[in-house]
Amino acid sequence: MSQQARAVVAREVGKPVAVETIVVESPHHGEVMIKLAACGVCHSDLSATNGTIPFPMPVVLGHEGAGVIVEVGAGVTDYVVGDHVVSSFVSMCGKCRYCQTGRPQLCDQAAKAGYTLPDGTVRTRDAAGNPLNVFSGCGVMAEYATLHCDNVVKIAPDMPLDKAALISCGVMTGVGAATNTAKVEAGSSTVVFGCGGVGLNAIQGCVISGAAVIVAVDTSDAKLEMARQFGATHTVNPKGEENLVKTLRKLTGGGADYSFECIGLGEVVAQAYGVLRKGGTAVVVGVAGPKDMTTIRTSSLTFEEKTLTGSYFGSAQPRQDFPRLIALYRAKKLKLDELITRTYHIDEAPQAFEDLVQGRNARGVILFD
Ligand code: NAD
Ligand code: ZN
Repeated sequence: MSQQARAVVAREVGKPVAVETIVVESPHHGEVMIKLAACGVCHSDLSATNGTIPFPMPVVLGHEGAGVIVEVGAGVTDYVVGDHVVSSFVSMCGKCRYCQTGRPQLCDQAAKAGYTLPDGTVRTRDAAGNPLNVFSGCGVMAEYATLHCDNVVKIAPDMPLDKAALISCGVMTGVGAATNTAKVEAGSSTVVFGCGGVGLNAIQGCVISGAAVIVAVDTSDAKLEMARQFGATHTVNPKGEENLVKTLRKLTGGGADYSFECIGLGEVVAQAYGVLRKGGTAVVVGVAGPKDMTTIRTSSLTFEEKTLTGSYFGSAQPRQDFPRLIALYRAKKLKLDELITRTYHIDEAPQAFEDLVQGRNARGVILFD
């Protein structure tokens, strides 16, 4: 049955988000409808509103959601009404060469589900009946959303849904960048640039991996305070530094084994590469604008065997990794409660985005009644 839902919609680049009443249609074959309980506000949602990530508008935002299945479409065998699920902003077909070789984060189908469901259509319409795109096959910043099962991961029913939502982007992306992409070894020295919802989790990933040195870098002192709470051993504010890279190389005993760029700026990617020791690896997690470039000394790749790589969705295998992250949370080895600085009613969504711009939260989370 179609549902009316309050939803956060971006209609025009550079304009504040709007909260609208939309219509969410019943699931088609292979799809499920979810009643959302919570959705985190990620910088990627903000980047969709300001053009850093080009998105065809209008688009229902949200890709960090958790809720309960209220309707299943034909052909759905793995889910029933009442299942607790989180969204996966990467659609996993299970059949392409990437899914088949253990890299579902690079699934070919995900590219087709960039702003629609994987079949290229949407189940979302505005009050005038016009179709609304959905962020990365999700569009879960809404009271209801219909997603393909390939964008859904089942979770245990006793896991609190507001904490579970965070796993589906910020936590998986940040922790996975350290544990899956970089495979940080115990005793390593690491530097994390940017201590927002993603960077704080990269710090947690370094802690879980047993890194000995974790230097957090952020232009906000409040974020550096949070970074210490999440396990950073040192903090540096670039504002007070004449030569940031030199300072960081010193703090890491001559250069870091691993560095993580969690902002999305080519200039910082170059810093992340610059702080590495010989043989080190810099992991780019932030999503830069389409015209942003970075420059590195080419010969250092050869002579110093440094690696510059990217990490999408924490190189996750979501159906394996999400339960592991939940297990770490339950074992008190992963902080989730502390990530939620503030919760918002959906009508306060514009404020949640403004607070993200101002850097006020580790994560802001929209809660649905
Ligand atoms: P956020 O806004 O919560 O955090 C960004 C942090 O960077 C802030 O604390 C800010 O103070 C800091 N910062 C900004 N400019 C800086 C500079 N020049 N030097 C040092 N610190 C600086 O954002 P977030 O939600 O944590 O997302 C971070 C990035 O990760 C974004 O680009 C987002 O699009 C991207 N992202 C990537 C993936 C992925 O799969 N790779 C997934 C989710 C988000
Ligand atoms: Zn995100």
